[in-house]
Amino acid sequence: MRTPLLAGNWKMYKTTGEARELVEGLLHGLGDVGDRKVLVCPPFTALQTVRDLVQGTPIALGAQDVYIEPQGAFTGAISPVMLRDLGCAYVIVGHSERRAIFGEGDELIGKKVRAALAHDLTPILCVGETKPQRDAGQAETVVIAQVRAALTGMTPEQIGRIVIAYEPVWAIGTGDTATPADAQAMHETIRRILGDMAGSDTAATINILYGGSVKPDNIDDLMAQPDIDGALVGGASLKADSFLRIVHFLSPQE
Ligand code: PEP
Repeated sequence: MRTPLLAGNWKMYKTTGEARELVEGLLHGLGDVGDRKVLVCPPFTALQTVRDLVQGTPIALGAQDVYIEPQGAFTGAISPVMLRDLGCAYVIVGHSERRAIFGEGDELIGKKVRAALAHDLTPILCVGETKPQRDAGQAETVVIAQVRAALTGMTPEQIGRIVIAYEPVWAIGTGDTATPADAQAMHETIRRILGDMAGSDTAATINILYGGSVKPDNIDDLMAQPDIDGALVGGASLKADSFLRIVHFLSPQE
């Protein structure tokens, strides 16, 4: 019912030449990926280079952030219209680094989700608790509040076009992954909340990705969980061989 999505978030890495080399490596080893979706999210400056390489291939293009207006006097910002113009199909919204380093709050993030949808971009809404919040037993409450804050007031049809990425902040870039069971429990909770907001039929179609130190050696166990529908991958997406192993995750019966 849900096609797995394996997404690479390159963050602030890769010049255009490095981006070219990485994508050429990915295309070389990609093979048949008919049963899964593959996405790369380069920095803005490499979008055009990557677009030219992935056009007509199974690799989709996404950006790492977007502003809420189509155009205007917003120095340094990039609009959803510009991302569409460059061939983006997806955009990451509310990544924990945007929340923590750039001070983005739930209200702005909700507006970004709407702006993306209004311009036919699929937003990947990132949510996740910090270590102190988890240690205090607040992980579920925090994540539920983030999902509700971003999606309140949206129609089931709009919610059905979103991808969620559960990314516990303490797991991002640390090598410390959530256990498959803990990740599954949170994904199940997120799907229940999506069901409350959009109906269970719609919730059952929504891809919920896990992110946080996903690597070649833990992807298979994560993907074996019923509510984990893919991964948002940072560090391990920066090298072709490690991202390809993640893309080619093995199902339990394989
Ligand atoms: C991310 O950037 O969203 C991420 C999960 O990073 P990493 O895989 O490096 O933890």
